[in-house]
Amino acid sequence: MPDSPGSAQDWTEPGAFEVVPGVHRIPLPLRFDALKAVNVYALEDGERLTLIDAGWALEEARQVLEDCLGRIGYDLGAVQRFLVTHVHRDHYTLATVVRRLFGSRIALGEDERDSLVGVREAENTGAPVSEISRLFRYGAEDLARRLLEKGDWDAIDPGLWEDPDEWLSDGMRLPVGARTLEAVHTPGHTRGHLVFVDAAAGLMFSGDHILPHITPSIGFERARPDRPLRDYLRSVRLTLRLPDLRMLPAHGPVAPSVHARSDELLAHHRRRLDETAATVAQGARTAYDSAKLLTWTRHHRRFDELNGFNQMLAVSETAAHLDVLADDGRITMQIADGVTCYAPLD
Ligand SMILES: [Zn+2]
Repeated sequence: MPDSPGSAQDWTEPGAFEVVPGVHRIPLPLRFDALKAVNVYALEDGERLTLIDAGWALEEARQVLEDCLGRIGYDLGAVQRFLVTHVHRDHYTLATVVRRLFGSRIALGEDERDSLVGVREAENTGAPVSEISRLFRYGAEDLARRLLEKGDWDAIDPGLWEDPDEWLSDGMRLPVGARTLEAVHTPGHTRGHLVFVDAAAGLMFSGDHILPHITPSIGFERARPDRPLRDYLRSVRLTLRLPDLRMLPAHGPVAPSVHARSDELLAHHRRRLDETAATVAQGARTAYDSAKLLTWTRHHRRFDELNGFNQMLAVSETAAHLDVLADDGRITMQIADGVTCYAPLD
């Protein structure tokens, strides 16, 4: 079935949608997330397939993947390799399930190693304990305690966080049948995020780096770097220096221009930095204070309308913006009793 971006068709509807000959977009279901689905892309290579991203290790996602591959004449065992854009559960974990069944190979960006090892070695309650613990530093002690007490985390079998077969580095060229994909390191959404560029076909498999409708979350990862927003903005500028390509994102429909969306994302973060600076002028002193004064999602929800998990993402992202403001000399930053505090310039 041809993929028809811009049509009224809901991008999350199950199916195998042909983007260009030999490349199919297959949306797989997620659970509990605000996001409804994740796209995996199946690239034909004769009898075999390479998949970009794998989906979340849910039984229903595996079923849908199997059915949709069947519609284009392949079975799950035809998947020879997964190229995974980043280590978040909705992209990585189904790959290890399929590898156990069929021996497929998995490749992941080398800078995801610390996060992967960290998740695997964490005492597994299913809760992202180290991400939650960071909330103390952001002044969100009550939110942290609420999340730590919450018992219903959707635990992923810790055994699924296995190492990939191959660690990919920036600039690696990956032949897939007649195509050559280039791995481009785009840290920010996660530190080891990769996009895959098929320059000859004018395509970018953009993962969660550039998304059509939403702004990718920043700084939610086990091994969080110091300045994830700084990294992210640099990576968006990097995508603007590449030729403009068609965007094949992990969430949302295929869109005509990576550049157009990259410009919008840079404008969004410029605005967001201004709004965040304004919260400090209004008296916010921690990332938690500031997050509560901002609105969230493209529907401008109030902070207290978000669930606990999304509040955690919101506070973490606000901290990323405040740190950049402090680096730029627009506000001051100091650490007091383990809490990072910000203030307006005198
Ligand atoms: Zn992600």
